[in-house]
Amino acid sequence: MNAKNEEKDVSIDKELLEILACPKCKGPLVPTDDGEGLKCEADQLVYPIREDIPVMLVDEAVPAAAWATGIRSV
Ligand SMILES: [Zn+2]
Repeated sequence: MNAKNEEKDVSIDKELLEILACPKCKGPLVPTDDGEGLKCEADQLVYPIREDIPVMLVDEAVPAAAWATGIRSV
């Protein structure tokens, strides 16, 4: 069922990641292990990805510690 080329199908591609920067500190973002968010290491904030669209709003960002416990919105 699963085609071999499916592994190329990542929700956030590398080009998009290079465009995205933390709206707070303008630093780089890295995808979270679960792929559901983009994390700013400097601020320890996770910007959630909702319906494949990263929500790049400081007000919507989840503290990394809360994210680790399963919280996906503030
Ligand atoms: Zn930041």
